Amino acid sequence: MTRFIFITGGVVSSLGKGLCSAALGALLQARGYTVRLRKLDPYLNVDPGTMSPYQHGEVYVTDDGAETDLDLGHYERFTGVPSRQGDNVTTGRIYSTVIARERRGDYLGGTVQVIPHVTDAIKEFIQDGVGSEDFLLCEIGGTVGDIESLPFLEAIRQLGNELGSERSLFMHLTLIPYISAAGELKTKPTQHSVKELLGLGIQPDVLMARIDRELPTSDRRKIALFCNVREEAVIPAMDVDSIYQVPIAYHEQGLDVQVLKHFKLPMGPDIDLSRWHEIVGRIRKPEGEVTIAVVGKYVQLKDAYKSLSEALGHGGIANNVRVNLDWIDSEIFEREDAVQYLEHVHGILVPGGFGERGSQGKIEAARFARERDVPYFGICFGMQMAVIEAARNVAGIKKASSTEFGDTPDPVVGLMTEWIQGNEVQKRSATADKGGSMRLGAFPCVITPGSRVAAIYNQPSISERHRHRYEVNINYKAVLEKAGMRFSGMSPDGVLPEMVEYPDHPWFIGVQFHPELKSKPFEPHPLFTSFIEAAIRQSRLV
Ligand code: GLN
Repeated sequence: MTRFIFITGGVVSSLGKGLCSAALGALLQARGYTVRLRKLDPYLNVDPGTMSPYQHGEVYVTDDGAETDLDLGHYERFTGVPSRQGDNVTTGRIYSTVIARERRGDYLGGTVQVIPHVTDAIKEFIQDGVGSEDFLLCEIGGTVGDIESLPFLEAIRQLGNELGSERSLFMHLTLIPYISAAGELKTKPTQHSVKELLGLGIQPDVLMARIDRELPTSDRRKIALFCNVREEAVIPAMDVDSIYQVPIAYHEQGLDVQVLKHFKLPMGPDIDLSRWHEIVGRIRKPEGEVTIAVVGKYVQLKDAYKSLSEALGHGGIANNVRVNLDWIDSEIFEREDAVQYLEHVHGILVPGGFGERGSQGKIEAARFARERDVPYFGICFGMQMAVIEAARNVAGIKKASSTEFGDTPDPVVGLMTEWIQGNEVQKRSATADKGGSMRLGAFPCVITPGSRVAAIYNQPSISERHRHRYEVNINYKAVLEKAGMRFSGMSPDGVLPEMVEYPDHPWFIGVQFHPELKSKPFEPHPLFTSFIEAAIRQSRLV
């Protein structure tokens, strides 16, 4: 029997609901229970796939090819449970489902309304495919009080009523600000937020109070009294120095105990948080540090590369070093010499990206790394740029480019349809909707024996997640290999290059997929572990 935990947020946005949900998931697992996490997003986009990373941060991709909210990345990193297509839904998708049903005549001529039709569709989504897990944690995006999230809140209210309190719990995350002029913590915003929620028929069972200092007992008592929540169920959620500290911190404040108490569930054997302590211990006491330059386009908004910066951190955890990130806007290299920006770094990473702007600067970064023997990690677009760089500057194909940037006589990167006509496997096309023309989700890759990546992965074939439209053109394999670039990973049919490397470079690897999406703190991705290892070697040289 699955129990449902609904997580809402109030007062302000960006309180870290996603992290809070992920951390609770990890705590319940540490108590021996199984979990699945889900997110409801109130915006009207059908999925975040076409949203700018500046607006919404990274698009997280699941094995089954869903383009989802970045919070699903936190869920996976904290619980290790792979997310699925059905674990993220937006108002846009709910409405398109309801409207499609209406067009099909499913409502038999009835008037289609938010209640019950939209709320029913939401409830179906929340419960879809659930059954084997002990807990489903369902996070509601946005802030209580937003017009947009009203149908979601109404749906969880109904569901809470249908399931009863023994199978549902409402958790609400709020902020307790410290007003320095008064020298006081203020509980009023929390009271108002809970009042708003109550007005919608939802009484929270657990309150998570985000706060930057200790919560005095008197304030905790006051919140409990005014918000009608037991005092022990008012959990102070203090700022911590690492996100991986969060499960430990919440446990210390009694979160898992309160949740299990609510459901009248046994506490089980002692909670085992050793893996979290181990990670936090390593983060706190690094034995050295390395600096990695991340040369990208959306560098002003760190959330645009969330999984990437986490994965680099995991590589640091695996090697006991702190990883400092130098975020560099690649366009700089189109105006200024790269040397001054890259001379001191121990590794260069060019992440995924779209569009021509800044691409020349990324090609420059790849050239610098190749010529100067600096460790280079090219992810997706970063691999494509490294291949163009090799074609232009090593193989002498001066006009080599990607068809993503317009027509070129030498499409070393392009849509596969541009060189294989009538291939039935190939469904992407230049004219398809932007939202539907990508290679998305997990695909297998066969590794070339004896290559560097073969040693790193230590297995003959792998599966990694993709999100891209263009491919490295197999027709240029021979000429690129002659120039010294080895094709070290291919799709099983041998048509799509998945990994490239320079055998005679200290560490230069390009991958067409996104390894950062599968890295976890307690299971760092081997490519990131190896890249940071190479950066440590480099740091001894510079
Ligand atoms: N723009 C490139 C493509 O569509 C790379 C995408 C990416 O880096 N995720 O193939």
